[in-house]
Amino acid sequence: MKTTPCDMCGEPIWGSGRCDDCWELKARIHAYPELARKILTEVEANMIQRFIGDCEIRLHYRGRSTDNRAKYCGYILLPDGQRYDFNDLQSGVGSSGTTAEDYDEMAESAINFASYYTTNNRGDDLPGWAPSADLADDISEAACSGMKEEGGYEVRREQHEKG
Ligand SMILES: [Zn+2]
Repeated sequence: MKTTPCDMCGEPIWGSGRCDDCWELKARIHAYPELARKILTEVEANMIQRFIGDCEIRLHYRGRSTDNRAKYCGYILLPDGQRYDFNDLQSGVGSSGTTAEDYDEMAESAINFASYYTTNNRGDDLPGWAPSADLADDISEAACSGMKEEGGYEVRREQHEKG
């Protein structure tokens, strides 16, 4: 038997169809759709906000991985309204995951991953979560003004005042 991606979340599963988590979640949401909507609205409203260059990054802490990394989902928003969603961003092993500094670090990590596979850097190893070449180019360009001379990005906790 070999693994195939779950048709909801894409995690590898034995056999085919949907993973146990997705079955369970779907069954719960079907039973309580209004409650699910309320919870999702609350999750979105409480996402942590960071800024790098002209990018806005929103992060939601999802809990721990089996090897004790912090897991996040969220999205990167560009000034022209383009959005890149990510589902399984992970910290280093043992990070608390929810301090202000952790969110700074993960915002930078999100930008690093999302801006990696640009037009000139589409290898054979392109992962399923990679944004399109155009979107990776746009994210890379929008983040550019947040680059520090010594390398890495300056992460802001507040939006620049619009000038
Ligand atoms: Zn699944």
